[in-house]
Amino acid sequence: MNNIGLYGGTFNPIHYGHLRTAWEVKEAFNLASVVFIPAAIPPHKNPGQIENTHDRMEMIRLAVENRRGFELSHVELQRAGLSFTVDTVKYFQTIGAGKAKYYFIIGSDAFLEINTWKSFRELLSLISFIVMMRPDPDLKAIEGPFPMLHDFLCRKISKDFVFQSDQACYCHPDLMPVYVQKVTPLSISSTKIREMIREGRSARFLIPDAVENYIHTKGLYQ
Ligand code: ATP
Repeated sequence: MNNIGLYGGTFNPIHYGHLRTAWEVKEAFNLASVVFIPAAIPPHKNPGQIENTHDRMEMIRLAVENRRGFELSHVELQRAGLSFTVDTVKYFQTIGAGKAKYYFIIGSDAFLEINTWKSFRELLSLISFIVMMRPDPDLKAIEGPFPMLHDFLCRKISKDFVFQSDQACYCHPDLMPVYVQKVTPLSISSTKIREMIREGRSARFLIPDAVENYIHTKGLYQ
């Protein structure tokens, strides 16, 4: 049984904040691979600001090619309409039944909005989440048993979550565990990359060279 990480996002564009933290989670959880899954029409973001689906996918392809253990999935791009994580997880659990155990990798900022996602309770009953603690001034207080996450889980999802320090996870009698993984703080965001490009500044060393070349060749984010 392989452990596989599913890493969903807009990836507009993919950057080293995504890649490095995915690598650290891969190592910590002994994952055979991490699958990057770009969202077609992310329900939480303004579609007008989202770069061409094909370009986002191509940039991920360039970022992960020749990197063993990183993969790209088109599943959400091929599905008509909005992308919902619950459907994506069911898809993978069907095709990988009996062969793979899946985890969903997510930044803490995104996880703290999970109660707005479609069928979030069902989703939390289907798959374990690995919540990466990401640099964010508002989340500085998070230490030890992660009070902000604890508060969120107990108040917005279920009061029956209990933190198990030996596994660094929140366990629940009916839902899958929610793991917490501290990752190297990398204050990189796609928003910042887009701003830099728009201002004519280089994003070198924040994104892979191949992604930077692609952005310039295609004239993205101008
Ligand atoms: P934007 O700035 O456009 O909102 P983003 O950089 O946050 O984009 P997304 O594609 O929206 O990137 O994020 C996908 C996932 O990656 C989310 O779970 C998010 O929390 C996580 N993530 C993004 N940047 C980092 C980072 N620097 N470190 C750790 N996790 C990150």
